[in-house]
Formats: sequence, structure tokens, C-alpha cells
Amino acid sequence: MEKNLKQLTNRIYYLPHDPETDRPILSAICGEHQTLIVDAGNSDAHAKLFLGEIDRRQINNYNSIVLTHWHWDHSFGTNQMNMLTIAHEKTKTQLKKIMDYEWSDEALDDRVEIGLEHQFCSEMIKKEFGVDRNITITLPNITFKEELEIDLGGIRCVIKHVGGDHSDDSSLIFVEEEKVLFLGDCLYPSIYTQKPQYKIDNVRQLIENIEIFDAEIYVLSHESPLSKDKFMGYINLLKLICELTEKHHRNHMNLLNELSTQINRTLSQLEEEIVYCFINGL
Ligand SMILES: [Zn+2]
Repeated sequence: MEKNLKQLTNRIYYLPHDPETDRPILSAICGEHQTLIVDAGNSDAHAKLFLGEIDRRQINNYNSIVLTHWHWDHSFGTNQMNMLTIAHEKTKTQLKKIMDYEWSDEALDDRVEIGLEHQFCSEMIKKEFGVDRNITITLPNITFKEELEIDLGGIRCVIKHVGGDHSDDSSLIFVEEEKVLFLGDCLYPSIYTQKPQYKIDNVRQLIENIEIFDAEIYVLSHESPLSKDKFMGYINLLKLICELTEKHHRNHMNLLNELSTQINRTLSQLEEEIVYCFINGL
């Protein structure tokens, strides 16, 4: 996997995601006076790797970090980052809830059993941390309710709470000067439900909130950054599945068939999975 920092635009750098232990993209937005980091990483090791990379590129003036949402893979590196941390107030509430958790195999397995932890996350935590599981959860220092603007010097970031099925604290970060929108995981389905799901109304609301921002590059945390064309293709597919789910309800064969006819090709496995998430949300 790619373990080196990449340049996204003139003033934005990122460390690509790593599916090996579900590491999300980490980014640095470099203003004239300040650099803002997007997401803290899934562990001390992940945070260290990122900080080492930005130091190597002589990126400095980094004093603050913004979390896209509370999930472990985005927040467990906060302690190692050791910076002023900005997050939505619900992100802080959620992190407070898990602060005193134990992270031994047994504790994780118990929480999976009672539905407090997701099987996949539990496996990934075990893999990322190995036996020496040193996890310290640090709470954000600055919280906001709806929106926050940060001026980094010649470059401004709008942080906006959008929620969504994946995690109701999800916030996005828009950098107007670079035309980049950081979406975190907000477009992915829920994970802390019995089955992964999308609710039609939530998806439509989320898309409306996203479409306010006119970007050229869209950064979803667990894939490579997307061009406007690719991203709009994805959004239009979600919109179409919303419509067809309303039309066919639980008749999944008709839904899959009409979707395949409308986009004029066989569905990929991912597309079929998305359809099932919508059916699960009915
Ligand atoms: Zn997430």
C-alpha cells in the first residue's frame, strides 16, 4: 500500500487510505499562517506515520486538527497528534461514551456480542494494535453545532455538520480556494445497525447538503480522491436508487433489474450491496 504523502492540489497533501487495517485518508491543508490536519488516524502508529511524512515535506505550522466523525479509525490517533482538536459536539459526546472502554480481545468480543461494537471494527482494531493495545482516547478541545469557518491565511475552510446514516455526527470540510470537499465517511451506510443500511430521506438530505459546495475534487476517507465527474456519477446513482427503492420497495429483483436497465449494464457487486442497504433501511 501507498505509505507516502501525496499532493492533492497546490496547498493540500494527503496520506492515502490503507485497507489493511482500515486506515482512512489523512490530509493537511496548508495556509500561509496555519496548517489544518483532517482526521487523526486510527492509532498512534498511523498518526506518527502521517506527522513524519508532513515533516519530511517541510510542512509546518500545524497546530490543529479537525475530526470528520468519532469512529475509531478517524479518532484514535488524536492523543499522538497532540494538537488543538476541533469536532462537532456529537463527536465529543460519542468519544466521551467510549473513553472508559477496555480494548482487550475479550472486552471487544463482549461488545460485539451485545451489538455495541461492529465485528469488522473489532477485527481491524485487533490487527492495527496487535497485542500491545495502548489506546488513549482524547476529547476534542473545540466543538461546534452547525458550521465553523477557519482562516488559515489565504485559504479558508468551512466545516459543516451534515450527519447521515453512517454516523450522525459526520461533518464535511470544504476548501473553496482549492475546490476540495472532504466528506469523511458521511456517504457510506450505517455500521452500528444490525445490517448496513441507507434511509431514503437521510440520503436525499445529505446529498442536498453536499451539493451546496462546488468542488472539483471529492475526498471520501476510504478510497482514492474522486474527480467531479466520478463523484457526480456516484451521487446520481444514489439518487436513482432512492427513486427505485420508493417504486419497488422490497421487491429486490425488480429493483435490481430496473436499475441495471436504466444504467444500461450489469450491476457491480458494490452497486448490488448499495441496493441491499436501501432495502435494509425500509
Ligand atoms: Zn466511519
